[in-house]
Amino acid sequence: MIKIIISEDKFAYDIHSLFKAFFPKEEIKVIPGDTNFIEDSAGEDIVYNIDVNVTKNELKRNIYKLLSKETGKELPWGNLTGIRPTRIVMNLLDEGMTDDEIRTYMKETYFVSDEKIELSLLIAHREKEILSDIDYENGYSLYIGIPFCPTRCLYCSFTAYPIGAYANIVDDYLTCLEKEIDYVSENFKGKTLDTIYIGGGTPTTLEPHQLKRLLSYVYDKLDVSKVKELTVESGRPDSITREKLKVMKEMGVTRISVNPQSMKDETLELIGRRHTVKELVDAFNLAREEGFDNINMDIILGLPGEDERDVAYTMSEIKKLDPDDLTVHSLAIKRGSKLAEILMERKADAEKKGNILHGEEDEAVIMAGMMKEASEGAKQMGLLPYYLYRQKNISGNYENTGYARKGKAGIYNILINEEVQSIVALGAGTVTKRVYGFGGLIERCDNVKDIKLYMEQIDEMIERKKKLFS
Ligand code: SF4
Repeated sequence: MIKIIISEDKFAYDIHSLFKAFFPKEEIKVIPGDTNFIEDSAGEDIVYNIDVNVTKNELKRNIYKLLSKETGKELPWGNLTGIRPTRIVMNLLDEGMTDDEIRTYMKETYFVSDEKIELSLLIAHREKEILSDIDYENGYSLYIGIPFCPTRCLYCSFTAYPIGAYANIVDDYLTCLEKEIDYVSENFKGKTLDTIYIGGGTPTTLEPHQLKRLLSYVYDKLDVSKVKELTVESGRPDSITREKLKVMKEMGVTRISVNPQSMKDETLELIGRRHTVKELVDAFNLAREEGFDNINMDIILGLPGEDERDVAYTMSEIKKLDPDDLTVHSLAIKRGSKLAEILMERKADAEKKGNILHGEEDEAVIMAGMMKEASEGAKQMGLLPYYLYRQKNISGNYENTGYARKGKAGIYNILINEEVQSIVALGAGTVTKRVYGFGGLIERCDNVKDIKLYMEQIDEMIERKKKLFS
């Protein structure tokens, strides 16, 4: 464990994140206020620069230099610990900085690597172009959460109930969603609905008539005349049927996702996906046959037992399918998840047998190799990066990146990631965000995660939204 004693807690979170980036496997404890044994600084007041961000940046720069010297490591994102590095570049572009000025700023302020600076610039320009006709002030997007899945994947951190055990409450759940849609219909009159995203869970666990019921209700109650994109995450191939695809096509769904995560059957079995590569290929081809011309695929880097060669293989198999959009995630293993337990057991087993496992250094190198395979594979398919975000505990301190063909980028993905437009979220475990204009204040309210509580407390969930948007 690494213990860091700080004289006050203003920047505790940033300090913790930066140490964690250098020492991902260590437990980091930042202890505020206990300065008794720091002889030189006890009792001294810290003098802040007028802008607290300047002080924070200076502090992070110094810590970064110190840790970099100590460990001999450079981090791809330098001392940036936030999850939206491209947002910084977007803001700098808005302030009128040139690309070269931004390059210098990112290097000198945050020590970001050249590769990540170029990636951020490319994405920020692309995002600005894609969002150029989005109404930030008077528009909104809609998210509808369907928290059911065929089975629960071992790495899952979402609200996902196995459909087999919950099938008997799906219709009542849809009734609750309809109540929430009624609220939106009454309270967002005159606003522009830009995008609709039905996610989860796996929305295609709904039966065809249930999918039709939900989509019809949205069409009946809301003004969809300006909607630019209607996505239904079809995620798990074992939930996709021709009949469901036909319903979605008929109801105007413009974008779906069919997610492999890996194109290796052994890996899919290990992570509890409970579907095969063949099922994935069949589902993808079925969707093409039914006329879907914007299909996203998700893959995960850093899955147990996989390295660059496995990612290269997955990319070569995906290339044969030629998706329009590809999202590359780096695995973030949540403590306490089933997958974390399995990995711990494997580690203990290997140690007992005297096997040497990858150290942190090796893992960072392997992750960098996998990311390179994925980005080169995407490039060969004609897909360009259009959004990225980082998350806590992410393998090797890297990021998740969305790639897409021109004209096929998921607009909702950018809106939610950059937090530039209000998103009204319906369903169990969803979070609604009110954004007060580009770069403005953001307020949130959430719906409870537990599906039964959500249904019991549906009026309270609506009240929360009413209050947020009053
Ligand atoms: S398909 Fe996605 S939401 Fe469903 S269990 Fe797997 S990871 Fe979780």
